[in-house]
Amino acid sequence: MGGGCRGLVGLGVSQGRAAGPVIRLADPPELPAPRTVTDPGAEAATVAKALEAVAAELNRRALAAGGEAAEILEALAMIAEDPVLLEEAERLTAGGADAAHALDAAFSGHREALAQLGGYLAERAADLDDLKHRAVASALGLPMPGLPSPGHPYVLVATDLSPADTAGLGGDVLALVTERGGPTSHTAILARARGLPAVVACAGVTGLADGTVIGVDGGTGEIAIGLSERETAEVARTEAARRARLRTSRGPGRTADGHAVKLLLNIGSAEDLAPHDPEPASGGTSAEQTGGAEAGVGGTGAEGVGLFRTEFLFLDRRQPPSFEEQVTAYAEVFGRAEHVIVRTLDAGTDKPLPFLGLPQEQNPALGVRGLRVDRLLPEVLDTQLDAIAEAARRAGAEPWVMAPMVTTVGEASDFARRARAKGIAHVGVMVEVPAAALRAGRLLQEVDFLSIGTNDLAQYTFAADRQHSALADLLDPRQPALLELIALCAEAGRQAGKPVGVCGEAAGDPLLAPLLVGLGVTSLSMAAVCVPAVREALAGLTLDECRERARAALE
Ligand code: PEP
Ligand code: MG
Repeated sequence: MGGGCRGLVGLGVSQGRAAGPVIRLADPPELPAPRTVTDPGAEAATVAKALEAVAAELNRRALAAGGEAAEILEALAMIAEDPVLLEEAERLTAGGADAAHALDAAFSGHREALAQLGGYLAERAADLDDLKHRAVASALGLPMPGLPSPGHPYVLVATDLSPADTAGLGGDVLALVTERGGPTSHTAILARARGLPAVVACAGVTGLADGTVIGVDGGTGEIAIGLSERETAEVARTEAARRARLRTSRGPGRTADGHAVKLLLNIGSAEDLAPHDPEPASGGTSAEQTGGAEAGVGGTGAEGVGLFRTEFLFLDRRQPPSFEEQVTAYAEVFGRAEHVIVRTLDAGTDKPLPFLGLPQEQNPALGVRGLRVDRLLPEVLDTQLDAIAEAARRAGAEPWVMAPMVTTVGEASDFARRARAKGIAHVGVMVEVPAAALRAGRLLQEVDFLSIGTNDLAQYTFAADRQHSALADLLDPRQPALLELIALCAEAGRQAGKPVGVCGEAAGDPLLAPLLVGLGVTSLSMAAVCVPAVREALAGLTLDECRERARAALE
């Protein structure tokens, strides 16, 4: 990216360019060691001022947000204004606590009381942590943590973001840049789904002052610092032109000699199927719904949904979604796309689903996650399968359903039996664990299709945490060991005459897509933004040329 006086480089994980002022997401404050208090009155005054500042900030954000978000923010402001909370904190200062510790203790007591009440109120207990962090930061003279809302478009810079933070980003975010994170982390996946340029593993970015104007290239990972007004406008102009060009790309996936490859979408909810606008003014999506075979799902020309990550609907929830709620959410997706592969809940590691109440683990990526949750809570999968079947009936759809993190043939056959008992005709499993890839042929005797999750398959093949920014080279899907596992699955599919697709992030990479086709996979599923570039890449090569690339990469 041109312009700027100096730059930083990270990993580009979501294509597109944007330029604008930095606003940093403040980390929760660390409570310093308690101070000896000489003037309890001054501490009490600091407490009162901190709570007022929190309430004022939330009310200001409510005014800017409007709608349902405003109601939530106003309710939070009211908690910060609760006289009981103030009295408790003041009582603690009178007993010798400094302002920050008094606030910390008062909020923690309040939280405990709410948690014990259970139900909806217990669900609100987590909000108190956010308020506590804000109040303590204010008392310590630090910036308040939490998603900023400055009232103008900005580039969000953070040490790291949770998937829930990313899902909750407002339309004023132009791009994301984080100090940590890997290319297949779920935050990167959500950024791609929203068409938001994003760079992760960018060392030094949190050292930039708020207001610094930077240019972000979500493809190359380059950050240009100190852009002029003219350069900022130029970035916006060239990005708008790029998105306009991609918007016109249509048609099914084909190699230059006509070999068909299904191009499918990865989604987290029906919203991701609104026609994809490759030119969101500030990261949003168009609300207009056209649908229709010509536009393809999401207006991308894609032929269906290859991965519906159902857990994204319920991130951060403390109460399990009801059967009816699930039916409504799934039916909405079935109503918008003809061919949909639903993945059953994939909880664990960086996608915690608090409502499952899973025990803490030493090594969560190797623990009870994905289909393994069924060992502890079989009713969760049964309810979900019932809800999928009911949603399909209501929408007149014929869903395909697959399970995540399947490891053994026994797990696959148990899943297939239970799904078929609910009337689900097309049952598959994801291949994300090397053990499953090695047994692909046997798995296909139990199920109707395989979908290769290269994000986790790379993580488990190379024993490298997919969120670890320093191990990104090991997670590169071009590694021959990973390609061999993919080739094994594709060959098993060819012999069985059953589809084998890829739905990990590798499928949306225009350099890798032809190679995967050369290995023999039958479909590629990706974020909507990736479809045009992958379509273009396939159209430029014959099937033999794709095979040649695959052979060269394997060697
Ligand atoms: C994968 O692991 O490649 C995959 C598609 O699943 P997720 O990224 O949701 O873990
Ligand atoms: Mg996975």
